[in-house]
Amino acid sequence: MYDMQYKRAKALLLLSGGLDSILAAKLLLEQGIEVVAINFRTNFCGPSKARPAAQMLGILLREENIREEFLEVLKKPKYGYGAGLNPCIDCHALMLKKAAEIMKKDGFDFVATGEVLGERPMSQHKKALAIVEKEAGLKGYLLRPLSAKLLEPTAPEKDGCVNREKLLSISGRNRKPQMALAKKFGINEFPTPAGGCALTQEGFVARLKELMANKPDFSSEDVDSIRYGRHFWVDGIQIILGRDEKENKMLEFVVNKKDILVKLNDDFSGPTALIRGKDAEQMIEKAKKLIIEFSPKAKNIDVARLTFNVVNDKK
Ligand code: SF4
Repeated sequence: MYDMQYKRAKALLLLSGGLDSILAAKLLLEQGIEVVAINFRTNFCGPSKARPAAQMLGILLREENIREEFLEVLKKPKYGYGAGLNPCIDCHALMLKKAAEIMKKDGFDFVATGEVLGERPMSQHKKALAIVEKEAGLKGYLLRPLSAKLLEPTAPEKDGCVNREKLLSISGRNRKPQMALAKKFGINEFPTPAGGCALTQEGFVARLKELMANKPDFSSEDVDSIRYGRHFWVDGIQIILGRDEKENKMLEFVVNKKDILVKLNDDFSGPTALIRGKDAEQMIEKAKKLIIEFSPKAKNIDVARLTFNVVNDKK
């Protein structure tokens, strides 16, 4: 008999664009559940993989900027860092807290993720899954379709919105069950699980550690500044040297009124230097020395012949 009370369940799914979140979406869509994806942008990860994934799944993708809130978490994570500077438990808790707010505000029945029990040592063991659920204020309303049968039934499973029998009991680091499921769903292309978050990338992490040590109250702009160039820190003042023409142009683009820009005049090509920090003027001579050191042409020329263009809007 047709049930007049029947309402199509609506899920808000955290979509990274990796295989697990794609499969979680598929499992829900297969049940006739309406799925809207959400992806959170920080200074360290964004929606580049989620966009094609949402398109392939044929679902709407919401993109939310949490850069500022995430920086606060990064500076003092309650549950610590992983192997790099990745505060995964706090990160999940923040993203899920935001998802919980949207769920309540926009009338979703529950939040879902592609998390797999035991897949990641730091953030996906049973205790961590329970912590983020509680911290996010989502107790009972966070569904992990890939591992659901190994976890307590959630409210949407209990009230019949979601058929628990059609959910899975995948656990651990072996990816074979996911690969088999991808084959079953005809999914042939998906991004690799690693490499999405800059906080797990060795070179970037080393530069971020330097930034944190020299400027504990670093901003979003400071984080952007360590994505390119050679970096030198002297007494809390940062000197960034462009490593090629593209990076020199980038420094000219990002320079702000508090910074000083130094470059060689005319005939001698070489790195542009951006000096950032309180008392940046003190580092102009140091920046010139670094420019000469890293300029293949200028370092063989009599220093007296070299002239510099110093752009200092602070004066
Ligand atoms: S790897 Fe990065 S984006 Fe992923 S949970 Fe950890 S901190 Fe967050």
